[in-house]
Amino acid sequence: YGGASGKVDYVFKVVLIGDSAVGKSQLLARFARDEFSLDSKATIGVEFQTRTLTIEEKSVKAQIWDTAGQESRYRAVTSAYYRGAVGAMLVYDITKRETFDHIPRWLEELRAHADKNIVIILIGNKSDLEDQRAIPTEDAKEFAEKEGLFFLETSALNATNVENSFNTLMMEIFNTVN
Ligand code: GDP
Ligand code: MG
Repeated sequence: YGGASGKVDYVFKVVLIGDSAVGKSQLLARFARDEFSLDSKATIGVEFQTRTLTIEEKSVKAQIWDTAGQESRYRAVTSAYYRGAVGAMLVYDITKRETFDHIPRWLEELRAHADKNIVIILIGNKSDLEDQRAIPTEDAKEFAEKEGLFFLETSALNATNVENSFNTLMMEIFNTVN
């Protein structure tokens, strides 16, 4: 989409970060192509995918970057990845305690390499696995408030809050540049 003319008013670069296997690539697949795969390979070769949204009658292209497996080694995500990013999705898996415990380190990395005005949303993914939940929603909410982050729980599997989380991020970025 992008209107009959195909004109794009804004391009916003967004980066996906967080530990390996939390569901970053599947969140992106769900958002960009409305697809999901349970046996997803450790990330497709492409660097980013795009989807164009309309916000206040403007055509806004989300250019969403996915780490090609580099997240498995700490601090291996290069500064080129963060360059020009105006938004970040910081993802953990609600069933894996350590992925939430690593969030402060990812925040540190963001603050070291990204623009200081970057808009950040904390995402607790795999909300469909409620019976395996390790992180109470309240704990994450409290952490997000303390750190000044937006926060949502999502499921790339059943699509819960995926649109909502990308839209929230894009709206907020739109508001910061306007
Ligand atoms: P990444 O390493 O962060 O990019 O993680 P992937 O997107 O490759 O996902 C890792 C694994 O978790 C894959 O087996 C996915 O199918 C699975 N997965 C991703 N999102 C969800 C989700 O919302 N719910 C469930 N149940 N599994 C998910
Ligand atoms: Mg991946």
